Amino acid sequence: MTKEIENVTFLNKIAVVTGGASGIGKSCARRLVERGATVVICDRDAESSMEVATKHCCISIPLDVGDPAAIEAVSDRIETEIGPVDFLITSAGIIQSTPESPENIGIEEWDAIVDINLRGTYLCCTNFAKHMCKRGSGSIITIASVMGMRSGPFHAYGPAKAGVVHMAKTLSAEWGRSGVRVNTISPGYVLTPVLQSAIDAGLRDISVMEESSALGRMVDPDEIAEAACFLLSDAASAITGINLPVDNGWLSAVNWHTYGGVRQTGR
Ligand code: NAD
Repeated sequence: MTKEIENVTFLNKIAVVTGGASGIGKSCARRLVERGATVVICDRDAESSMEVATKHCCISIPLDVGDPAAIEAVSDRIETEIGPVDFLITSAGIIQSTPESPENIGIEEWDAIVDINLRGTYLCCTNFAKHMCKRGSGSIITIASVMGMRSGPFHAYGPAKAGVVHMAKTLSAEWGRSGVRVNTISPGYVLTPVLQSAIDAGLRDISVMEESSALGRMVDPDEIAEAACFLLSDAASAITGINLPVDNGWLSAVNWHTYGGVRQTGR
């Protein structure tokens, strides 16, 4: 059997990926298609979404996860026009580009970050899960961040992502008896367009990000997608309510910097 055929584990499955027009969501969409799934990208960037959909054989339905009525309409439309949704990955999110003090972060910016990252994720989960629960099956991955697991100078983004982790655990207990699993992936530093822009603008130092992880490098978006495919699949049928860091061991190694950093190879 060829590797390609072995990998077609999601034949006849329908997957929705929010934020699928870029970065982590785009990799997830591509990996799901490679495994045979029908993938619907729901992103507010309609142009990029269409480009990705055309290139990787997905369907694009523009969606702003900040708009509750639109989420409900899109989830109902997909169920009616495309079919029953088996998988949801919520990758739509916005970062806080500069570490502002509480005095300097405006409440409008705080609201926008919490609105898209936390409220938007909640609304996507509840709107797609209502159909999954009726059918008695489904699997959801929320994308949080290691910034939701350790404090950092991001007073809106960190708490919003911590909320995503907690929310997914709560929803996993709520929907477990309805056959719906809910898990979270908390990425470390992933080289995606949004992070690359921050590096290019001098707002992040790639060598510091690489150095602070155990493996000493950035995460590739495909490495998040592979973890997501595992958690969505039947191979993870007993796993629900977990938060899986995919971070090159950033959480394990970051405290070592208090003591001069991790030992380099050969020392
Ligand atoms: P990205 O900017 O490359 O992709 C995010 C996508 O979400 C974009 O296509 C954007 O158009 C879409 N989006 C933004 N707001 C939206 C909205 N209101 N409605 C619908 N779509 C919207 O970013 P990324 O790095 O791929 O990040 C994806 C997710 O992973 C985010 O939730 C982010 O917080 C999280 N994350 C990223 C990193 C990293 O290092 N890149 C680390 C930890 C967590």
